[in-house]
Amino acid sequence: MLNIPTVTLNDGTAFPELGLGTYGLRGEAGVAAVVAAIQSGYRLLDTAVNYENEREVGEAVRESGVDRDELLVATKIPGRSHGYAEAIDSTTGSLALTGLDHLDLSLIHWPNPSVDRYVDTWRAMIDLREQGKIRSIGVSNFTEQMLTRLIDETGVTPSVNQVELHPYFPQGALRAFHAAHGIRTESWSPLARRSELLQEQVLSELAEIHGVTPTQVVLRWHVQIGSTPIPKSADAERQRENADIFGFELTLDEVGAISALERGRLWDGDPNTHEEM
Ligand code: NAP
Repeated sequence: MLNIPTVTLNDGTAFPELGLGTYGLRGEAGVAAVVAAIQSGYRLLDTAVNYENEREVGEAVRESGVDRDELLVATKIPGRSHGYAEAIDSTTGSLALTGLDHLDLSLIHWPNPSVDRYVDTWRAMIDLREQGKIRSIGVSNFTEQMLTRLIDETGVTPSVNQVELHPYFPQGALRAFHAAHGIRTESWSPLARRSELLQEQVLSELAEIHGVTPTQVVLRWHVQIGSTPIPKSADAERQRENADIFGFELTLDEVGAISALERGRLWDGDPNTHEEM
């Protein structure tokens, strides 16, 4: 079984340096895919109310044979549940669907600034953490300004900010802000959803040098820039490939060469304007 190292979050939680994305993993095939990942060593499972697979993820936790205490189930509160009471209801629903007695991490999925209720949502999450229903609380797709507002208005800094991050969009300024405030960065679509990224010449050259695959080079880059990638794969072989990145190291120059692929967001998901319910 692969051993995925951890880092310590600002609330003391040991948080894996790589996790499993589960978007699109649904039904019995979805349960089987998540079980396969857990059995090969994944400990962090990233779901969301809007992925409509919290039931499958909970089922996989029970079927995996791995102690519940070793696993971190992360979910997200959708835009339509912003607000104090709504966030409590959303979490109650996630607990019921997963069949778990606590969630390890909950994130505000999108800030939806025009709705302007993410601070109330955050207050509910602070209370849910105090009640033990959620162990760690964080956000997703938050900008520096939005993070600053949460911290200023509640005094509670998110443990995690999960954002679009891959070599085409390395998020240098936001990562520096996270580092200064003790917020762990998590990378969504870490492989840029496969796209043409994996064909980039610099990645095949580095793969050749290190005797690994271009995918492994990309995921290792995430780890070395201090972000937890959550690659999604439905396939047990590719899941193992993606998690087997802790036996080699890129040089600083190599990390820089990968970051130089920067060209911007791929899907027009600027959190100041893009909103999801
Ligand atoms: P991704 O992980 O960058 O890419 C997934 C794609 O890459 C799938 O088509 C997968 O196909 C393929 N793949 C995986 N491993 C591979 C390998 N070793 N070789 C070749 N192809 C490989 O994209 P994503 O699913 O969009 O992002 C990952 C997770 O981030 C999501 O599942 C979700 O949990 C989270 N997410 C969060 C947000 C947010 O707003 N917070 C937004 C988007 C995504 P197979 O399954 O066939 O292997």
